[in-house]
Order: sequence, then structure tokens, then C-alpha cells
Amino acid sequence: MRSGKMNRTPRAEQWFECPEHLPLRTIEQIWAARVLVVAPHPDDECLGCGGAIAMLAGCCDLRVLVITNGTMSHPNSRQFPAAALRALRESETRAAMNYLGVEPAAVHFLGLQDGAVPMKGIEGDAIGGDATGGDIFDIALQQCRDYLAEAQPQLIFLPWRADPHPDHRASWQLINAALPQPAPRRVEYPIWDWDAAQRGSIPSHIDVWRLNIQAVLPQKRAAISLYRSQVSDLIDDDPDGFRLSSEMLERFLQPWEIYFEEIT
Ligand SMILES: [Zn+2]
Repeated sequence: MRSGKMNRTPRAEQWFECPEHLPLRTIEQIWAARVLVVAPHPDDECLGCGGAIAMLAGCCDLRVLVITNGTMSHPNSRQFPAAALRALRESETRAAMNYLGVEPAAVHFLGLQDGAVPMKGIEGDAIGGDATGGDIFDIALQQCRDYLAEAQPQLIFLPWRADPHPDHRASWQLINAALPQPAPRRVEYPIWDWDAAQRGSIPSHIDVWRLNIQAVLPQKRAAISLYRSQVSDLIDDDPDGFRLSSEMLERFLQPWEIYFEEIT
């Protein structure tokens, strides 16, 4: 699930290790009537934005779009082969989002293959997938265009564009390519940059701030615990199975969430 190391920068080190220096904003400062949270994998939305979701769900039209099916977290489990694992992970997301106040009908699963979200290359060829990459990208792009045209979000939470995980970067690219112009406000959340061994650079044109989630931190903690396939030994028959470390979990259980936003 993890990609290789990227270059670290003093700026990234400073913000991830001493985030208390970052400006702290309230939910009222970022509220919008229609909000979309995009998750590359089933759990990213809760880890990166669970606090924002808990505060926004009851006071706006909030939807969640999960890009992949999550089947690569335990690829060798016999107890949970791909179809069962997909169903399990989708049910965990619905339960966690429901706990935070999001109706099941407001959670949509695009169902792309975990680990293979297509990405447009420099020459216009898509990378990823096991069929013709360009076809996969174009089909996914149209699906996202249709979804966004219907949802019409005014604020979108996206995975950080330079996250070490390629599915996160590809999800960012896919949604951005599908958005109409002028695009709505987008804020980006880091996941794997919290791991110092994988942390990448943060360009100077990116603003970094914190959202105060103190009031809903217990709810976020409880919602994350519902992803039992990712935080417990629920699936114990795959030696290569993924499990979020307690160290990483603590990063997401602070009384604030970090967001990146392009300076315009
Ligand atoms: Zn992810």
C-alpha cells in the first residue's frame, strides 16, 4: 500500500512535527451549503476529515465519494476474498459515516480497483489498471463528471495532491479533471505524509491550516474504530494484511485536522 520515499523539506517537517503553529480555523469559517468529501480508500475520509464531517453533516448537504473498492488491504485473505472484502469495507464506511450523521444514500462508491486508480501521464496516456489505461481513465472521468454535475458541491475535501500513496494522487487528479470551471473551493487532507518516512515536500503556493475539531473528537475516534478491518485483527489470515499502526492513528486523533489549500 505504501510508495517510496519522497524528498523531505524543512517546511513539511516543521508543519507535521509542530502543527500547533499553524492557524486554527472554525467550521463556520469554511462552511458551504453543498459539501463533498472524496476518499481514495474506504477510511481515508474518516481519518483525514472525520471531524469536519461530524460538524458539517447536520448543517449542510454533505456527500462522500469513495474512489476505490479497498480490496488491496488484505489481498491474500481466504476468509475475505476480494468481493467479501469490498462488501465489508463499504459497510464499514457506511456505518462510520452514519455514526457521524451522513445518510447511507449520501455515500457513493465508485468501485475502481484498489491500487490502480488511473492517472493521466505526460503524453496523455493513463497509468494504472489492467485494461487499456486510457479507457479506464476516460470511463472513470465521465463517471466523476456525472456525479459532480448532480452533486454540485461548493466545497470539496480531496486527498492531498502529493500524498505518497499513488491512489491518493490519482484520485486528486481524477476529480480535478472532472470538475467544471471555475472549480469550487477545494481543500486537501494529508494521510501518508503523516508518516515521517514517506513525507513529501509542500510547495510554497500551498497554504496550510488547521480546523478545530475539539468538540467532535470523541465522535471521530468512535467512527474510526468502526473500521475494524483496518484497526483490529478482524482479518487475521493474511500475513501481508494491512493494519493502521497506533502511532499513525494518533496522528488523526488530534483536536484539529490539517488541511492544504492552494493560494489563489
Ligand atoms: Zn488511502
